[in-house]
Amino acid sequence: MPQDFTIKLPYFIYGRGEPILYIQAAQHGVELTGIYTIRLLMERLRGTKIEGTLILVPIANPLAVKWRRHFYKMELGERYSDDHPHQMNRVWPGNKDGNETERLAYALYENLIAKADYVIDLHCWEMWRCSCALGHEWDSESVEMCRYSLLNFIRLMPRKYFTGRKANMLSFVVTVKGGHAIVIEHSGQRWIFVDEAKRVCEGIINIMRYLGIVPEKPVSPKRQFVVGKDPHVNIIAPDGDWILTVYKRPGDSVVKNEVIASLLDIETFKEHKVHSPINGIIYEIGATRPNVDTRPSDEVMVILKGEKYRIATIYETRL
Ligand SMILES: [Zn+2]
Repeated sequence: MPQDFTIKLPYFIYGRGEPILYIQAAQHGVELTGIYTIRLLMERLRGTKIEGTLILVPIANPLAVKWRRHFYKMELGERYSDDHPHQMNRVWPGNKDGNETERLAYALYENLIAKADYVIDLHCWEMWRCSCALGHEWDSESVEMCRYSLLNFIRLMPRKYFTGRKANMLSFVVTVKGGHAIVIEHSGQRWIFVDEAKRVCEGIINIMRYLGIVPEKPVSPKRQFVVGKDPHVNIIAPDGDWILTVYKRPGDSVVKNEVIASLLDIETFKEHKVHSPINGIIYEIGATRPNVDTRPSDEVMVILKGEKYRIATIYETRL
């Protein structure tokens, strides 16, 4: 590091040979559930014969984890952004003469990631949005990895999304260099969400079956929603000053006309019920503003007159 201190980056290697799968968690310091997912994966693989090589890095960014924010040196209330100099997922493949975060990325990339055929980068987004596998729509292997994750939601990013500093996101750098990569977003930051970790761990095992790293037949993906593409509804709060109560969680099934939330008028104390207009699965509900977790006031369930506040997004299930 620049000031002559050293950071240890623990990693674990299973098996040898090809293909090589690299999995890391916690690029962002409050996205902790993926660390536990890797812990579960280690337990789950005990006694399993690995074909090829599995490389695990449970904490890719110990500086940010110890800082207790997304980025090392991020200030309280500062927005999540592409531009922060310590935004680790905008500095790949790193720089050996750069700042602390760029050096960490460089060390990981040079020593472990560059030789990998497949990469799974574990993140967590807000608890108001369902877990999701994010792949690259122009790379069919990446799309298949998303499908075999068995998560309810997948999102396929177009190549044009990765411009400016987004061109230095790990999954993009790996793909451009001929590898195959996905991101898995768990639902919920700051805490370990055990059920999320279990779900994602099972998904990773299934991807490993698909890749032939675990010698079992993969479970074929069933119903999955492609975010942004499949039919869905956004529910917007009617104009008013409201307190929002939600009765459902991301990932829950709802039937048409079911009450999913209520709005309490701050002046009259009258309650307005919010119904689902379709049969579906909830993708987002509650404080669904972008990056609400980085600004505490954005997470408060208060809606004010004139705000176009999205209460929920529901993807339609067709029977
Ligand atoms: Zn992240």
